[in-house]
Amino acid sequence: MTLSDAGKLRTEHMVSETSDLHRVIVVGGGAGGLELVTRLGNKLGRYKRADVTLVDKCRAHLWKPLLHEIGAGSMDLGVHEIDYLAQAHWHHFRYRIGELIGLDRRARAVHLAAHVDDEGQQVTQRRSFHYDTLVIAIGSQSNDFGTPGVREHALSLDTPLEAKRFHSRLVNAYIRGHAQSTPLRPEQLQVAIIGAGATGTELAAELHYTTRQLVAYGLDRIDPKRDIKINLIEAADRILPALPERLSNSAAALLKDLGVRVCTSSKVAEVATNGVKLASGEFIPAELVVWAAGVKAPDVLKDLDGLETNRLNQLVVT
Ligand SMILES: Cc1cc2nc3c(=O)[nH]c(=O)nc-3n(C[C@H](O)[C@H](O)[C@H](O)COP(=O)(O)OP(=O)(O)OC[C@H]3O[C@@H](n4cnc5c(N)ncnc54)[C@H](O)[C@@H]3O)c2cc1C
Repeated sequence: MTLSDAGKLRTEHMVSETSDLHRVIVVGGGAGGLELVTRLGNKLGRYKRADVTLVDKCRAHLWKPLLHEIGAGSMDLGVHEIDYLAQAHWHHFRYRIGELIGLDRRARAVHLAAHVDDEGQQVTQRRSFHYDTLVIAIGSQSNDFGTPGVREHALSLDTPLEAKRFHSRLVNAYIRGHAQSTPLRPEQLQVAIIGAGATGTELAAELHYTTRQLVAYGLDRIDPKRDIKINLIEAADRILPALPERLSNSAAALLKDLGVRVCTSSKVAEVATNGVKLASGEFIPAELVVWAAGVKAPDVLKDLDGLETNRLNQLVVT
């Protein structure tokens, strides 16, 4: 957003939700923000001691550690997500949908993008809200470190939408493989997961089970042992590099037993339409590539009315 855009927002779409109470806005209803706004609502909002508002770009919260299970298809999203409107009603805060796109610290206002639904219909216009106290808790998104092809050919599991998209592509890939009369191409039914942190490692194990279940539901021309390959690719010399070596070793042994191919000390140079090219020159064929190799804070924080950030866009808290 340019400065003139921000100016336009201020003059055209300032939403006035008048209140004599102290206005607290929490942007981001994730693990941190939702807990905070719920408690503030219960303690302050309920007794009209503050006006508490949650802003989130989504309609519902899903705890991110469940995303790999949505992606693999072992969990039903609807059962686990928390609807912000309902949560706001029961816990005495307001919920306003919109993506944070700007901040005016002098005017004490947050600027939100217009919200557009899945069918391209605009739901809310661009608007701004005033605050007395602002909490920014918009979490993280995956960081591809500029690796060529990631944006075009890999999926990440940052949001429920992306997890559902991955699952849908996975099921379609299996149905296609089952239905076709020609032999499978080398990349077909192969999955490459880049990054063997908690997300990648759990996803690899989860996929092993759910792909077999899928095949058992009547896709019987696919032989899981012969046709399905799950590759877990990690640049460090062991999986789960942030955990003690003992845990890495036992997790690697378990994955090996499941038939997951674990490639450590393997830096990805590029992601292509049909697989992953390693810096060593090796090519790993895969029709589904998941990028789980790192996170950064959302780009909007990079230039948020002069707030200091580090190289991962994280706000510096003093
Ligand atoms: C697949 C996966 C598995 C994980 N497993 C574990 C685990 O096992 N244990 C563990 O402790 N941690 C785990 N984590 C990490 C954990 O999920 C995060 O540490 C935690 O969710 C961070 O909470 P948060 O509130 O900072 O942000 P988040 O939970 O990411 O929430 C951010 C919120 O901000 C909203 N938002 C983002 N941008 C904007 C914007 N511009 N405007 C408005 N709203 C916005 C989002 O919609 C979201 O609701 C995992 C993460 C992932 C992705």
